[in-house]
Amino acid sequence: MRALASGARGRPFKSGLPDQGKGANMAYKIDPTKCIACGTCQSVCPQNPPAPEKDEETGKFKIVPERCKECGTCAENCPVEAISKG
Ligand code: SF4
Ligand code: SF4
Repeated sequence: MRALASGARGRPFKSGLPDQGKGANMAYKIDPTKCIACGTCQSVCPQNPPAPEKDEETGKFKIVPERCKECGTCAENCPVEAISKG
């Protein structure tokens, strides 16, 4: 549970959302040990609301898997290469 739930703490996974992502398994993920919380991923994400959001507990960003459509834009623009496909 911990690996899948990272980045979605306190937010239960939902299924069946219309075209807002392909599921938690393939969504992009942020490595919190690399993230410098610059917010670029949130700025460039085409989803509305953006899939990356700030984790108030850690101060780092996380990707809400249900919103991620796996476009890769965030990973291409992250300055520290903290984002990879899950
Ligand atoms: S772009 Fe990279 S470093 Fe910046 S907030 Fe997103 S994951 Fe963190
Ligand atoms: S892969 Fe695309 S949809 Fe998913 S979080 Fe990154 S920018 Fe947003």
